[in-house]
Amino acid sequence: MRVSLSLILITILALVISFAKAYDPSPLQDFCVATDDIKIGGAVFVNGKFCKDPKQAKAEDFFFSGLNKAGNTNNDVKSNVTTVNVDQIPGLNTMGISLVRIDYAPYGQNPPHTHPRATEILVLIEGTLYVGFVSSNQDNNRLFAKVLHPGDVFVFPIGQIHFQVNIGKTPAVAFAGLSSQNAGVITIANTVFGSNPPINPEVLAQAFQLDVNVVKDLEAKFKN
Ligand code: MN
Repeated sequence: MRVSLSLILITILALVISFAKAYDPSPLQDFCVATDDIKIGGAVFVNGKFCKDPKQAKAEDFFFSGLNKAGNTNNDVKSNVTTVNVDQIPGLNTMGISLVRIDYAPYGQNPPHTHPRATEILVLIEGTLYVGFVSSNQDNNRLFAKVLHPGDVFVFPIGQIHFQVNIGKTPAVAFAGLSSQNAGVITIANTVFGSNPPINPEVLAQAFQLDVNVVKDLEAKFKN
């Protein structure tokens, strides 16, 4: 009886610690397949997702199909990101890893953005990309940039603003691993100029040293 009580206390402590970190934890078990259904879960709440009873886990929980297909790049930035994270593969829950496929039409780009919870490692499969990230203010906002050819790999450190541009006349395809089951994306232009409700244009005009009418145009463009 005393043993089980200490086990319960240790479990509660471990959960409290994982909440406090609010970060993909190192799993304490083989896997923790995510479920939205508390009834079939073990009622263990880990970083946003319940765990399924491990005995009910099956191969499909760790499986995704379709990453061989190009995404639709018919949009303003001429690129598409297909995300394979814990929402697509419930078995990724607590594993601290996920994957994306990025398609770029000729001269398309994956615009400046940041992942609040992940470092990204990208490998170019087809085409030619100009890629880069900018370090923080403390490091004088240095640009680290490179032209990539098929087989080339580039790393975007966690939290740094980064981008990729297809500088070739043909489509480009890249895959990237991210060090979170749910990396998150903050696209700079959409976040700053497309917030809901909009940020006061006077504020952004001063912040970006722009005419207020330019800010109003940008806010109209990115309105969501
Ligand atoms: Mn990225």
